[in-house]
Amino acid sequence: MRIGDLFGRREPVFSFEFFPPKTPAGEEALMRAVANLRALQPSFVSVTYGAGGSTREKTIDIVTRIKRDYGIEAMAHLTCVGHDRDEIAAILDRLAACGIENVLPLRGDPPQGETTFVRPANGFGYAAELVRFIRARGHRFSLGGAGYPEGHQECRDLARDIEHLRQKVAAGVDFVITQLFYDNADYFAFVERARRVGIDVPLVPGIMPIVNVAQIERIARLCGARIPTELGERLRAAADDAAAVQAIGIDHATRQCRELLAGGAPGVHFYTLNQSPATAAILAELRR
Ligand SMILES: Cc1cc2nc3c(=O)[nH]c(=O)nc-3n(C[C@H](O)[C@H](O)[C@H](O)COP(=O)(O)OP(=O)(O)OC[C@H]3O[C@@H](n4cnc5c(N)ncnc54)[C@H](O)[C@@H]3O)c2cc1C
Repeated sequence: MRIGDLFGRREPVFSFEFFPPKTPAGEEALMRAVANLRALQPSFVSVTYGAGGSTREKTIDIVTRIKRDYGIEAMAHLTCVGHDRDEIAAILDRLAACGIENVLPLRGDPPQGETTFVRPANGFGYAAELVRFIRARGHRFSLGGAGYPEGHQECRDLARDIEHLRQKVAAGVDFVITQLFYDNADYFAFVERARRVGIDVPLVPGIMPIVNVAQIERIARLCGARIPTELGERLRAAADDAAAVQAIGIDHATRQCRELLAGGAPGVHFYTLNQSPATAAILAELRR
């Protein structure tokens, strides 16, 4: 099933994102989360691509297993980091051979400690170039693209950033999944900017339920997401009480999702961090 074909139906498209674990115990935990979340009948799941090292190999394995063993549609992320064109071509051929029909082509982040992305020799400098390469090779994949409601960290000029997204979509992206955000006003303004420049594909909001204060502050800092003052204060006041933090996180994400769907969002992509309880609780609330 091509993910691009799932939109425009009556039901919202709910999806879950996982990452390939580094240890066998982590892999067991992931498969437990997949099994738990399967009951919620996601439209698809996606598996991230590591910044380097051994987990990169696992992305294809996990996506293939989820699709084959659990019968859930799955999408593989792929980045330009550290790959030349021949390597990317080999990965794409392997994905196709494994029966994977959906890919999220990304540029990837600069390595830790570096602020600018350096194009790999004979590789790609922007996700749009990777998208063009995939389309030029004639693959039938449905392709996603990353979007940034608050602007990408390296391009805080929102008008320029949305123009870059327009070019990426024009290169052959079927739908966009956004970076996580905690203030819906940022998403709605992003949709407005996108529509104004002619981006007409589905723009799926990405939501990461908060389960741990220190963790979310680190993640938000890394990806440049703003935590609204009032939410930040509530979280810090409850920081020593894990159950209270999780309850605040679930409450905030549930309200965010309700408002997003009511405001026309085509679905929600949940950044699960390989854990099921918070996402399950939110979806249960949304479907009540
Ligand atoms: C849904 C989602 C999933 C993700 N999954 C992963 C993952 O699995 N693995 C991983 O490592 N990272 C992942 N990331 C993070 C992502 O790799 C980083 O945010 C990265 O810094 C940008 O990737 P991109 O594909 O958005 O890049 P691009 O679309 O290439 O944009 C990168 C920057 O370049 C600018 N730009 C684009 N085109 C041009 C141009 N022609 N001229 C000048 N500037 C330009 C953009 O404005 C932006 O600032 C994900 C992000 C999202 C939102």
